Amino acid sequence: APAILWFRQDLRLADNPALLAVQGRPVLPVFVLEDGPRAPGGAARWWLHHSLAALGRTLAERGAPLLLLRGDPRRLLPDLAARSGATEIHAGRRTEPAARQRDAETHAALQAGGARLVLHRSALLHEPHQVRTGTGKPYSVYTPFSRALFALLEDLPPPIPAPDRLTPVAGAPEGERLDALALLPRPPEPDWAAAFPAHWQPGEDGAQARLATFLDRGLAGYADRRNDPAAEWGTSGLSPHLRLGEISPRQAWHAARAKGGKGLETFLKELLWREFSHHLLWHRPEMPEQPLRPEFATFPWREDAALLRAWQRGRTGYPIVDAGMRQLWRTGWMHNRVRMIAASFLVKHLLQPWQAGEAWFWDTLVDADLAANAASWQWVAGCGADAAPYFRIFNPVLQAEKFDASGGYVRRWCPELARLPDRWLHKPHEAPEMVLRGAGVVLGRDYPKPVVDLAEGRARALAAFATLKGAA
Ligand code: FAD
Repeated sequence: APAILWFRQDLRLADNPALLAVQGRPVLPVFVLEDGPRAPGGAARWWLHHSLAALGRTLAERGAPLLLLRGDPRRLLPDLAARSGATEIHAGRRTEPAARQRDAETHAALQAGGARLVLHRSALLHEPHQVRTGTGKPYSVYTPFSRALFALLEDLPPPIPAPDRLTPVAGAPEGERLDALALLPRPPEPDWAAAFPAHWQPGEDGAQARLATFLDRGLAGYADRRNDPAAEWGTSGLSPHLRLGEISPRQAWHAARAKGGKGLETFLKELLWREFSHHLLWHRPEMPEQPLRPEFATFPWREDAALLRAWQRGRTGYPIVDAGMRQLWRTGWMHNRVRMIAASFLVKHLLQPWQAGEAWFWDTLVDADLAANAASWQWVAGCGADAAPYFRIFNPVLQAEKFDASGGYVRRWCPELARLPDRWLHKPHEAPEMVLRGAGVVLGRDYPKPVVDLAEGRARALAAFATLKGAA
């Protein structure tokens, strides 16, 4: 009988267990654009468009074109199964609470017609429901989790090669045209994605090319350079590819191990942070909305639309924060160290709720991922399962002086400050008037004055934290 291959967050042909399961049978590949409160944000939609285009080309070359649908899979898939005679729908498992719920309902709807949904491990190295502590509980702390996973992954099977040919389903129905899914920014909206193509090549080929270059040029120095936001190939930039499964974590894991050398272990540990986020989301489905540490539910945030906007636009007056927020806007991505600094500044110095930051990242990151984004925001905000203590407050100036010492990152994204000497680059508000004038900078005209005084912001954050009952 023919089978349906439902692509979701595994937009690749190689190392795709759902694809392996349908090989040898007529196969109908399908992607369903779903609506809902956690539909992909703007930047992720841009990526999805190009990724679907790439996947569509490859599938057509191998003989089974991709069917694009839009709507509710609980209704569309049983209908498609009935029309194509498929009794099985194969897909990769997802961890997002709404997707899990929908999968259960899709399965039930399919069963009513004599078909079923079969899920495979495809996006992760481990199944979140299979990894347990010694006492049978889910993990809530990263280090023991990663140790357990390293042991489990010792005999991780090798990736599955991509098939050369696929057998199409006869008389497959017509779907939507890719353009009709309207995933790209459309006028009168400004084309905020104009610079994205210079930075990214969505799709399986782009993912493999990036992995290869990173292994060649980045992995050996990864442990030393991963915190340097100005370094070229300091990190892999694989996150948006992993996000949509254009490459599997297993492919990245094995390829990195085969390359080996210095930097390897640190890199593998980062891949395990990704696993850990999904493990948390699986077991704590409230994570995207609610603090994992319940005492934070009464945190006295001071919502302020103007401050939030200054942060979003990269106009806070703190160059490292602004550089990060502008990199995010221009490229859909921000370096991890700067994500931590910018996020901490928002929730601590500006006292804006972490959910507001999470929502902005959700809309602007090409790698926006419910698990990693929510887990990271909660980590920064101090309310996560395994979070940094709230009272440890990053000073954005000191962080910048440490991690962007020669100023390459700030000069790139805040060019109006480029002529400031290193000594003042990260704190133009403290620079003597003469220095500013020499660099052609008038604060308040060319570059904003600080939206908050760091010492005051810090004291206010600590006072807010002190109001929580039972917080340590
Ligand atoms: P590399 O350093 O090359 O790491 C390799 C891979 O490991 C990454 O591609 C990613 O898949 C994974 N990884 C690395 N660090 C983390 C981490 N801390 N948590 C989970 N996975 C990790 N990552 C996302 O993929 N999506 C998000 O929406 C996201 N939101 C974040 C929000 C905040 C506030 C912070 C502080 C971090 C967030 N991260 C998110 C984690 C991290 O910043 C990115 O994964 C990383 O910067 C991606 O760049 P890279 O591929 O070059 O990473």
